[in-house]
Amino acid sequence: MGDIRLAIVGLGKIARDQHIPAIAATEGIELTAIASRNAKLGAVAHFATIDDLLAGAPEVDAVALCTPPQVRRAQAASALRAGKHVLLEKPPGASVSELPVLIAAAEIGKRTLFATWHSRFAAGVEPARIFLAEREIRSVRIEWKEDVRVWHPGQTWIWEPGGLGVFDPGINALSILTRILPQPIFLTAAELRFPENCAAPIAADLDFSDEAGTLIRAEFDFLQTGPQTWDIHVDTDQGRLTLSSGGARLFHDGRILVDGEDAEYRGIYRRFVDLIRTGQSDVDLTPLAHVADAFMLGRRKTVEAFVEEAA
Ligand code: NAP
Repeated sequence: MGDIRLAIVGLGKIARDQHIPAIAATEGIELTAIASRNAKLGAVAHFATIDDLLAGAPEVDAVALCTPPQVRRAQAASALRAGKHVLLEKPPGASVSELPVLIAAAEIGKRTLFATWHSRFAAGVEPARIFLAEREIRSVRIEWKEDVRVWHPGQTWIWEPGGLGVFDPGINALSILTRILPQPIFLTAAELRFPENCAAPIAADLDFSDEAGTLIRAEFDFLQTGPQTWDIHVDTDQGRLTLSSGGARLFHDGRILVDGEDAEYRGIYRRFVDLIRTGQSDVDLTPLAHVADAFMLGRRKTVEAFVEEAA
């Protein structure tokens, strides 16, 4: 079986930082085309839009959509209509209800639809899931605090409706949480802080619980300067499990169990190749549903305007 011929759509930060090197490091898939309004990539075939790509490069088997969530549904629908397998960056869309339509299209067309959650591929996540499967969970605390000016420079889409604001990174924490906890959880309360000039929140506090009444609290902040924090602490009947550095490192009562290298996107592409080869899709909407709940149930506070250039 020949390599899967892949096109990247949207040559922005994540495509350059992670997708291109991960594709190069993965057997069974090769980058053969780019759709970008603004950039080219060496000798790789270039198209300005996904429609030009679908018309001009019929040999492409699959597309990786690295665009903002607001434009992804239409791109995914076009690609599936053209018979391509589709990889969606996270979050998988700008609304929950747009996804079942894509899932149905993939099923009818017998194509793979893969809604990626890159943080679930971090080195500490699977060992944490295995550890917690056998434990009584007493409480959970998430701190996901980063500096938007450092990590999302110039990304104005993040502040628009559907851009999710601080939930753009925060949903990564929820993708890990919903993978490692053995039981389903639900949102009970939230406070979302919206800059007066933005349509998406810059900070959020979320309370979740479960059937047993476990306290689960998440704090998301997009204005964290100094040390950046992407930690999940789980107190159990057998001590505290901490996933830090976005899931790359795992501690039990302060003792390090896992200190993994950054291989999330290689994990994503290995899985994409496997899903295509075995004729499957993988679309888990749980993290997106929790974020939608926060927008539905959360109390809103208006805070001072966000201006990207630091004062
Ligand atoms: P980005 O740097 O803004 O890149 C997105 C790219 O999409 C743009 O460079 C542009 O590419 C294209 N694009 C933007 N607006 C568009 C529009 N209206 N129509 C069509 N194409 C458009 O953003 P990013 O950080 O790469 O994030 C993209 C997605 O990846 C987001 O969903 C984000 O959550 C996810 N992600 C980001 C990170 C990260 O650390 N940055 C990590 C994991 C996941 P062209 O100019 O090439 O057309």
